[in-house]
Amino acid sequence: MQLFDAHCHLQDECLAIRLPQVLEKARIAGVCRLLCCGIHEKDWEAVRLLAEHHPEIVPCFGVHPWYLGGQSAHWLESLEKFLLGTPSGVGEIGLDHALPERNDAEQEEVFLAQLRLARKLRRPVSIHCRRAWGRLLELLKVEGGLVAGGILHSYSGPPDLVGELESLGFYLSFSGVITRSGNRRGHRSVAVVSAERLLIETDSPDLVPVGMASDINEPENLVRVAEAVARLRCVSLEALAEQTYANACRLAHPFVR
Ligand SMILES: [Zn+2]
Repeated sequence: MQLFDAHCHLQDECLAIRLPQVLEKARIAGVCRLLCCGIHEKDWEAVRLLAEHHPEIVPCFGVHPWYLGGQSAHWLESLEKFLLGTPSGVGEIGLDHALPERNDAEQEEVFLAQLRLARKLRRPVSIHCRRAWGRLLELLKVEGGLVAGGILHSYSGPPDLVGELESLGFYLSFSGVITRSGNRRGHRSVAVVSAERLLIETDSPDLVPVGMASDINEPENLVRVAEAVARLRCVSLEALAEQTYANACRLAHPFVR
């Protein structure tokens, strides 16, 4: 069985300090490709190096809405250099209306700059969205949609948006949040995603699946997500693994070595 972790942060210190073990445990669990997202300007070089040394790691570079304000004056030029220098996608970028203190104008300015860069370079995007679905759709329509597809990571939106998001070019990715028995909305959403638009992820080191001993998530736990998604969609674990692996490869094909 082969699994593709469609969203994780291996550059995070708590994983990076023991990366050989993390990757070996992932490999034993069948996780043989991982899409690793930067979250701010200061971790892009670490993500680039991880991908350079580990061919199973597919890199993405971006500024996450939680980490606004720390960018240098030339951050966008720097992002373009990383994207041109390495086969890669744009992410993690997005909108977060669930943040207790937020600046929507700044979030949108940084998000749109990165979305436009992805469009210019024809790269896929990895998007974080919390409680901002209406605004995300408005902005995407104004911008003309996605040119190279994208991922909505740890999808938390309503099931009735799934069709519209798919038609805009999105793949919908589900994380350990889906293993929570009270997540009825997530359970309904995961059941209605088209088979060819479905992805699974860990968001390591965050979003530990239910029942794990450690509070640090790792890619090897992707199996727990796969089992839960397979159960909710009434398919076998093997079929779910094969489908989501093929989907992630299709989206990331220019960058999968
Ligand atoms: Zn993330």
